[in-house]
Amino acid sequence: MQEAVRLVIIGSGIAGCSAAYHLAELGWTDILVIDQGPLYRTGGSTSHAPGGVFQTSPSRMLSDFARYTVELYAGLRIDGLAGITQVGGIELAETAARLEELKRRRGLQQSWGIDGVILSPAECRDRIPILDQRKVLGGLFVPTDGVARPVLAAEAMARRAIEKGVRFQGDVEILGFEKTGGRVSAVLTGEGRIAVETVLCCAGIWGPKIGRLAGVPISLQPLQHQYVKTEPVAELVELAHGAEVEVSIPLLRAQDHSLYFRQHGDSWGIGNYRHAPLPVDAEALLAPGRASRMPSLMAFTPEHFEECHRASINLFPCIEGKGLADSFNGIFSFPPDGMPLIGEYQDLPGFWVAEGVWITHAGGVGRAVAHWMAEGDPGADLREADINRFHPHQTTRDFVLRRGAQQYREIYDIIHPAYQITDPRDLRVTPVNPRQRSLDAHFHESAGWERPQWYGANAALLDRFPVTARTGWAAVEWSPIIGAEHLATRAAAGLFDLSAFTKIEVAGPAALGFLQHLCANDVDKPVGKVVYSAMLTERGGIKCDLTLTRVAPDRFLVLTGASTGMSDIAWLRLRARLAGHDDAVLRISDVTRQYCGLGLWGPQARAILQQVTEDDVSHAAMPYYTAKPITLGAIPALALRISYAGELGWEIYVPAEFGAAAWDRLREAGASHDLTVCGGGALDSLRIEKGYRLWGADIHTDYTPLEAGLAWAVRFAKPDFLGRAALLRQREAGIRRRLCCLTLDEPGAVVLGKEPVLIGGLPVSYVTSTNFGYSVGRQIAYAYLPIDAAEAGQTVEIEYFGVRHPATVGADPLFDPAGQRIKI
Ligand code: FAD
Repeated sequence: MQEAVRLVIIGSGIAGCSAAYHLAELGWTDILVIDQGPLYRTGGSTSHAPGGVFQTSPSRMLSDFARYTVELYAGLRIDGLAGITQVGGIELAETAARLEELKRRRGLQQSWGIDGVILSPAECRDRIPILDQRKVLGGLFVPTDGVARPVLAAEAMARRAIEKGVRFQGDVEILGFEKTGGRVSAVLTGEGRIAVETVLCCAGIWGPKIGRLAGVPISLQPLQHQYVKTEPVAELVELAHGAEVEVSIPLLRAQDHSLYFRQHGDSWGIGNYRHAPLPVDAEALLAPGRASRMPSLMAFTPEHFEECHRASINLFPCIEGKGLADSFNGIFSFPPDGMPLIGEYQDLPGFWVAEGVWITHAGGVGRAVAHWMAEGDPGADLREADINRFHPHQTTRDFVLRRGAQQYREIYDIIHPAYQITDPRDLRVTPVNPRQRSLDAHFHESAGWERPQWYGANAALLDRFPVTARTGWAAVEWSPIIGAEHLATRAAAGLFDLSAFTKIEVAGPAALGFLQHLCANDVDKPVGKVVYSAMLTERGGIKCDLTLTRVAPDRFLVLTGASTGMSDIAWLRLRARLAGHDDAVLRISDVTRQYCGLGLWGPQARAILQQVTEDDVSHAAMPYYTAKPITLGAIPALALRISYAGELGWEIYVPAEFGAAAWDRLREAGASHDLTVCGGGALDSLRIEKGYRLWGADIHTDYTPLEAGLAWAVRFAKPDFLGRAALLRQREAGIRRRLCCLTLDEPGAVVLGKEPVLIGGLPVSYVTSTNFGYSVGRQIAYAYLPIDAAEAGQTVEIEYFGVRHPATVGADPLFDPAGQRIKI
């Protein structure tokens, strides 16, 4: 074994081989890939995966990963065999609801640039001759989907990496790590110690165990998954031309039964998710060679196969009476939110992760992590896969087990965009939660927080503010009360619970300089000023958007979203480390739990606030975008004169223990001013009417402030800030797309997000965020349009469940464009 190397990659499954290949392509060659098993059939999950590659996903990131993976595998060859056979893939519909869902997925394909077509039952049968077409209502066919050869693809990528100088070592187990100065500095193996600069963990189901050795939480749950191959089937013998052709007919999913199928020459392969989740303790997993050459396989459990078998025979009668030539329970990884884990762990510099990776996405994941390591940027929006995205409770064994198991149950379910998890709930509650319950709040979950979406107690508002009812998907997790709360806020005032926002304190002598370098806006303002700013990547993409309040010369309160908070904190800490700031000069602290946040907005907001405080909250004493400490009676508070609702008002932060009292005081004062308690549904609808961009939807690293219409928050006059050079180049060259505000022309038309936007019948974009604007009476949808189409009056179509709805580019924002209601 060599004694020192720049990078050790743990695991030579598909993820490790892909990362090694892509790093080598970028010029990183001083790499040692170590696997505890034999190369390349190591005994990990890659060794027995049947290799189905379906590219369609509600996640653009996953679809992009898959599209690139298909291209990559198609070019890999060993002994004349390709990394993938592109026989196409069909998702079958056996129910009317699934057929509708397929239309929605066809829309997603157009949004993400994947070719697909809806097939009739007869067309499905034409492609799958053994299918009983009477059992299906249709299918969604993607001609470029296919069946990968996972071990071959891994080995082919490894060979290419080896040609460039990368070394691979099998049958060596990694047993631990050394750290020096807070960085990983060596890996300890069964064969000795290797000094390293960097480690990349691609250990698959062993990830949590490796993570424990390194002190890195790797949130994924290994679960058993059944796969069988039937005895030879006469009808397939013909299709396979004897047993010569391994796969000649499309890969299939029958999601209504949680099953998938592929041909193995003359036998039929059946993958079964239709059984209770069977979790495996990552710590109990063996290493290959100890007791088994295939430690990621477990004994087949026939009792879990019975229902699946009946459903399979129902679809493919020719397999009736056939025995099973091969059957096993394989193990693979399920992260709590179903997304991969990629990136450098914030608290252990030098320790990188590419975990929770399917065969389907391994090419794209390998490319992204390689670019991230070699160039400091993954080259695409990876927010959904950020290893640092998890809140502390989301890394606990209990959470990872429960959510991982639920991912297994739901893997093929029809998931509504507003879907809410059911377990675990009531984990994080704000100080006003009991009061909200007494008002019959309907809660949504975000980062563990319970957040009211609307209040049942407001039903009577509908007499004053009638709202048109909805049906179907548009009515899921929706209530007309949302609209009434919106209108009540605009008419008088609304009280919102903002406690779940992530609150970060950035303090120390270096705080100002640090934030000035990271923020595109100018934060060098007097104490008491509030600034909205994006932070950019080197490429000018919007890494995060935040509200920064200078509360002391060397202290800032930084506010960001609930779910994005951990990624934002990791970003700040990474930049602090790269800038060489230690705790003596810069402290970045998560102070979320210390404060209860309340939003008070509407024309009556000042009258209400003035009633509970002796401090002057007039416009002269407290202009827009300022903050100051006030008291609400005996309650100390920090009031920020900002508004996400587009109305006069404040965000008010009080120490958490005063939260309930502050709520009560404001409600008491609000009683004579028509104050309504309002939920997140109303707030999102208020914000979209005002054109406020939503990070993670309208804006993220794929888009720049110039494209997103946020140039007003960029101070080019500042001598330097991260991303400035890229933005200047873009300003010089001119932008090629712009975020536009669309309204649907038909009064009752509704969309939910991610739908394709078409011009002249061709997809040109997709809906980034959407909601009904109850004040403007229209469904509003934002989308990036090519610059020559990004003009008011441009007509487009938005496809929703297969139906195209006309829409028109309008003013941005639609409501109170001059901000007159806020700045009074
Ligand atoms: P692995 O292939 O498990 O590689 C991890 C490697 O790390 C192993 O080789 C292991 O030996 C090594 N390692 C771990 N710990 C150590 C250590 N301490 N020291 C040294 N080496 C170590 N995906 C799809 O996209 N399509 C499918 O159709 C599909 N079907 C599947 C069907 C089944 C039955 C199963 C089980 C999985 C299926 N998957 C499918 C999922 C897919 O197989 C996995 O997600 C993927 O193979 C994971 O690859 P990996 O490289 O991350 O992990």
